[in-house]
Amino acid sequence: MEGCLFCKIIKGEIPSDKVYEDDEILAFKDIKPAAPIHILVIPKKHIDSLAQLEKQDEALIGRIYGVINKIAEEQDFLDKGYRVIVNCGKDGGQEVMHLHFHVLAGKELGGKIVG
Ligand code: 5GP
Ligand code: ZN
Repeated sequence: MEGCLFCKIIKGEIPSDKVYEDDEILAFKDIKPAAPIHILVIPKKHIDSLAQLEKQDEALIGRIYGVINKIAEEQDFLDKGYRVIVNCGKDGGQEVMHLHFHVLAGKELGGKIVG
């Protein structure tokens, strides 16, 4: 989508530190890491947010979780643990309007909101 930061990263117009890529999904390091490991996993298809998800996108979201686990295994935090966060919309604190999954790992994560 025109003007979308993450679409520009997908097209290579803005550089990123990629950790995984296939024809549907891209993962790259967050520019401002909130943990020792902070990776963003995004669909290459532009979807504004979780709230805009359509029925036909549901399999893709399932694949994203599979990719997250593949990265976790490769980067050796599958067993140690990690947190996956999706901010959605204004109240959810979403700043970049291209659906993305934050993957945080590499230390015992504090700041639990739920649980
Ligand atoms: P949100 O607040 O929308 O859930 O998260 C957006 C995330 O994108 C933030 O964690 C922010 O640090 C990251 N981010 C913003 N601009 C860039 C960029 O140009 N490159 C990378 N790699 N990450 C970015
Ligand atoms: Zn986009």
